[in-house]
Amino acid sequence: MSAAVITVPAFASARDGVRHFFGTRRHADSFALEVGVPARQSGAQGRGWLLSVKQVHGTDALVVDRPLIESDQFPGGWDALVTDQPGVTVAVRTADCVPVLVHDPRRHVVAAIHAGWRGAVAGIVPKTLSLMVARFGSTRSDLRVSIGPSAGPCCYEVDGPVLDRLQAGLPDWESVVRDYQGHNARLDLKALIRRQVEGEGVLSRAVSAVNLCTICHDELFYSYRREGRVNGTMVSGITLASSR
Ligand SMILES: [Zn+2]
Repeated sequence: MSAAVITVPAFASARDGVRHFFGTRRHADSFALEVGVPARQSGAQGRGWLLSVKQVHGTDALVVDRPLIESDQFPGGWDALVTDQPGVTVAVRTADCVPVLVHDPRRHVVAAIHAGWRGAVAGIVPKTLSLMVARFGSTRSDLRVSIGPSAGPCCYEVDGPVLDRLQAGLPDWESVVRDYQGHNARLDLKALIRRQVEGEGVLSRAVSAVNLCTICHDELFYSYRREGRVNGTMVSGITLASSR
């Protein structure tokens, strides 16, 4: 394994006017990210900003709908970032939670979402899509969604409190768990998110997933579950190209 980031060309490419990445631990180790403060970026792709904010396992989104400036600070907590600003990379940090990237190629809007079980069950992904519709005029059937590396159903054991919330929030919860034994099961967070976005009207062919488990693949990813503590987090982001 040598690539520092994972990309899904079928989801979004430079040809579509968008760049994206799902980070690995190598990528995460290669730079420091100041949370809540836009970081200047310059490189072959041109100048721009990278923005990641404090994540609180909620469902609120920060909307960046104006150009960023040097003195900007975003001290609140948000688990989704949405922007229509070219050159602004919106990024989330995850270890076992799911990074979800969204692209509206028609209205030129992108989103990065941090979805752990709490946020996912509380509907952060559908809520962010609704925000894109309300705020930017997106149409759900235009949207492309990519679900990144996270704890997989092979490893991600959950217990009563998680299952209670899941059962209360999702009528067909049984379709996203494995080996259900009353008080514990293994949860398929990626399947849960896929069901939610397809249930919202995103076309199934427009939803892609990176089927790698952060707990299984220690060479690729940090995992809170596997390591028992936060050693680091992967950074995943998406950017509208500066010229379109
Ligand atoms: Zn696994």
